[in-house]
Amino acid sequence: MGEEGKRGQMFPEKYDHRTIEPKWPRKTHTSSRGLRPRSRGASLRGKENYNHRLIEPKWEKRWEKSGIYKAVDFAKKPKKYLLFEFPYPSGDRLHVGHGRSYTALDAVARKYRMSGFNVMLPMGWDAFGLPAENYAIKNKVNPNVVVKENIAHAKAQAKRWGLSIDWDREIDTTDPKYYRWTQWIFVQLFKKGLAYRSEVAVNWCPFCKTNLANEEVLSDGTHERCGNKTQRRMQKQWLLKITKYADRLIDDLKEVDYLPRIAQQQINWIGRSEGTQIEFKVQSSKFKVNEKVTVFTTRPDTLYGATFMVISPEHELVAKILEGKIGEIRGIREIGEYVEKAKRKTEIERVEETKDKTGVFSGLFAINPITKKEIPIWISDFVLSSYGTGAIMAVPAHDERDFAFAKKFGLPIVPVIIPRDQKEKKDEMWDFEKEAYTKVGEGITINSPEWNGLIPSEAIKKAISWLEEKGIGKKETSYHLRDWVFSRQHYWGEPIPMIFCEHCSQKIKSEIRNPKSEITAAGGIPPIGGTNSNFKFQISNSDMAGWWPVPEEQLPVELPYLEQYEPSGTGESPLSKVTDWVNTKCPHCGGPAKRETDTMPNWAGSNWYYVAYLFGDKLQNQESRINPFDKLRIDAEQSRSIKNQSEQGNIFLENKELLKYWLPVDLYNGGMEHTTLHLLYSRFIYKFLYDIGVVPTKEPYIRRRSHGMVLGPDGQKMSKSRGNVINPDEIIEAFGADTFRLYESFMGPFDQMIAWNQESLEGCCRFLKRVWNLVDGWEEKDDKGNPTSSGSAGLRGARKGELGEMGEKGLERKLNQTIKKVGEDIDNMKFNTAIAAMMELLNEMGERGNPISPSLTRLPTTLKLRGTSRGARKGEVGKEELEKFLLILAPFAPHITEQLWEKLGNKFSIHQQQWPQYNPDLLEEETVIIAVQVNGKLRGTIEVQSAKCKVQSEVEKIAKKDEKVKKYLAGPSFAESDSASHYAKATRDKSRGKREIKKTIFIPGKLINFVI
Ligand SMILES: [Zn+2]
Ligand SMILES: [Zn+2]
Repeated sequence: MGEEGKRGQMFPEKYDHRTIEPKWPRKTHTSSRGLRPRSRGASLRGKENYNHRLIEPKWEKRWEKSGIYKAVDFAKKPKKYLLFEFPYPSGDRLHVGHGRSYTALDAVARKYRMSGFNVMLPMGWDAFGLPAENYAIKNKVNPNVVVKENIAHAKAQAKRWGLSIDWDREIDTTDPKYYRWTQWIFVQLFKKGLAYRSEVAVNWCPFCKTNLANEEVLSDGTHERCGNKTQRRMQKQWLLKITKYADRLIDDLKEVDYLPRIAQQQINWIGRSEGTQIEFKVQSSKFKVNEKVTVFTTRPDTLYGATFMVISPEHELVAKILEGKIGEIRGIREIGEYVEKAKRKTEIERVEETKDKTGVFSGLFAINPITKKEIPIWISDFVLSSYGTGAIMAVPAHDERDFAFAKKFGLPIVPVIIPRDQKEKKDEMWDFEKEAYTKVGEGITINSPEWNGLIPSEAIKKAISWLEEKGIGKKETSYHLRDWVFSRQHYWGEPIPMIFCEHCSQKIKSEIRNPKSEITAAGGIPPIGGTNSNFKFQISNSDMAGWWPVPEEQLPVELPYLEQYEPSGTGESPLSKVTDWVNTKCPHCGGPAKRETDTMPNWAGSNWYYVAYLFGDKLQNQESRINPFDKLRIDAEQSRSIKNQSEQGNIFLENKELLKYWLPVDLYNGGMEHTTLHLLYSRFIYKFLYDIGVVPTKEPYIRRRSHGMVLGPDGQKMSKSRGNVINPDEIIEAFGADTFRLYESFMGPFDQMIAWNQESLEGCCRFLKRVWNLVDGWEEKDDKGNPTSSGSAGLRGARKGELGEMGEKGLERKLNQTIKKVGEDIDNMKFNTAIAAMMELLNEMGERGNPISPSLTRLPTTLKLRGTSRGARKGEVGKEELEKFLLILAPFAPHITEQLWEKLGNKFSIHQQQWPQYNPDLLEEETVIIAVQVNGKLRGTIEVQSAKCKVQSEVEKIAKKDEKVKKYLAGPSFAESDSASHYAKATRDKSRGKREIKKTIFIPGKLINFVI
């Protein structure tokens, strides 16, 4: 808190720096805050320079000690839960891209706190997964060690940025206390039949030696993390049935406020389409075949035009052909070669429109169920096994891809739809040899005896009922979304908490030859959230026989410390080598069994971290266990026996009321690149948690926004190889965290990609220096212009007398407008315009305020500011105005505003003050109507700002620009000729040339009369 200094001397009427400067500042500082105590007149200017190195760490310590950013559980105030995507603590640490998201959300958090909300702004570490593992491998440091180091560094960075984080809630996804519950969620998914094992075609990265989800493969077929080309291969994997939630993941988007393109991307990714499944019988001219192929089509009305069929190389019929199960097929060698070649291509390469279509005849035919004709079955990699049924009926007359294929391999093209107007104009028939007709919605059906002459929408209905009637087709909804491959053959992840027992497997397999058999799990596996120990689940797949979840009281399955953690390269997890960890007891029969050695993907820990924050402090207080990071060799039995003694409860259920208080998240910000990854995954898992009754709402996030990427100064994506990476640590060292924060918010519209601009950064620094100087140089005065020794009472009146009405009103209005704008802009995440408005306001204040160095009133060159009323009378900035200005700047520049708040004699902390109110009456520019006469006759009225209404030159200027008045002043452009005399006069005037104003009569604020 600052103390008032002694005052006495009269403020001189005339500006004389030699007289006034040495006596500033009036306030002294409490030296305990780490600032130099100064005596009056210690320097010529008598002012203190803005030194971020002194003030920023000082306030950061004070904030931490005072705990002003703690979120209060169950507080009476309304809550706001703000969330930014937590970082991977890889070697790159926090970069300027993190800065953009974090400082913006921090500004929102601060503004909400000042507006009376109980704000939650937590932070933690998404520390499992490939980024950390790749970094560890590259630097030859164990991930157990390196992750700890990186977290410590990133945490120090976040603190140095002045983020108002409640650190009590900090979580780390690699902490066994945390991933115990990540594993628990997996077990629940398994019990509900949503986690299962299956052999699937997976993307394989030969460089990372791991399988990838489709989402991790970029459009050019490379691995998003390492940039290398990926391949496809078949492998047994754990999958999560996200497809079961596909409809809800689309439909519930209506209940949330996501940026429209985010919602649209999710809808597109899920790719729901309504269509029909049609069965085609397979046949061969040489031997009997007992097979069927099912296709999914959205256009059953084109069935008469289906002249061939294409199946994917992964289709089960292909496997049967190659295994010789169908019969002797000619060309089996070519088929085998083609299938091998397709395996080496990425999905993206396979479906590329520009690529020449490839394919091989299967030797088999299908029967078109409506024409009864034989149509050849081809194998081509443009059909993906992951979409629909992995088989299509090709209608080359109406699909460009099918058309290209038919043309290349000489297959028949049968049109079934023609443009509606072609019925008459026979001469201009569509040439189906040249091009497919794809605007089928605008056409009419032909060559289709069952529905000829119908428009396609009607034909579709007819086709579906025909197919359903005959029992060869049924309505189906198809999705682009696939089940989520949840296995990774990597060390650095949560072990999948499953155990395989060969004995049980054999037993169950013999039982499930009776397909309806239900297996009852014993072994003390408790049901979800209840006390009944008798849960059942259906085993629908022999891949699942013998797999048991680790009993919940034995969770977590801790990740053993490994010296050799690199990927094995065979596709097996490095954990498979740790035999004393792998070998365990079967939870069902007690016999010898083996642990699953696959770990969970990157995205597992982030599925529920926003729930975990809420009890982050409680997670830490769970009974402590052996820290896995400290031991070199796991002793699974021992650590399990320790766990068994405690932790009866379920952390979700124990905190049910707490979750009800805080959830859902009010605002979630993150990168666009996570829209179809983390954002979709976490919504799915959250919905599942809702279904099992452990979270209170259907959706986790009410509002989702996304920040644009920060590019390098060269406009390119920042990368070490380009050498265009901006290191936030260096920026903060040179300019301070406040400048860094302010610039990150000011650089451009929040959702747009922006290149780093050093000049603009420096402009932000100059702005803060000007703020500093304005407040540092400010002192109160009484109505005679004398510095006062007491508070602000009477200030307004005092200034009124001194300023005159106009200047006073002008500044007040500007301040009011800025308070309104900054508040609304923060709410709407338009941070750049909020800051621009404050820059404009400072300009106004700088001009009106106490004399500050002329160089400081100049604007930073990179800032373009609108209309400051430079002509206005010099005013004076009062304490109240300065305080309001600091209050609205505080969310963006928390350190300097805290310091200046104190300087003005206020109590700690500015961040606990009320957000300033604006006066709605003072927002509008006040105007006055002035009558304009020409030769004493009223010819118009003009609206003039009240500040200018008494200034004759201003009013004259506006009056002369008025269209109506112009006509009477300047003859030639006379247009209004409603009366003859009028016209005559105008003509006369015109002939005379330009009129001259002989005299102007002005009644200030009321009337102006031009005499001509
Ligand atoms: Zn890779
Ligand atoms: Zn067993």
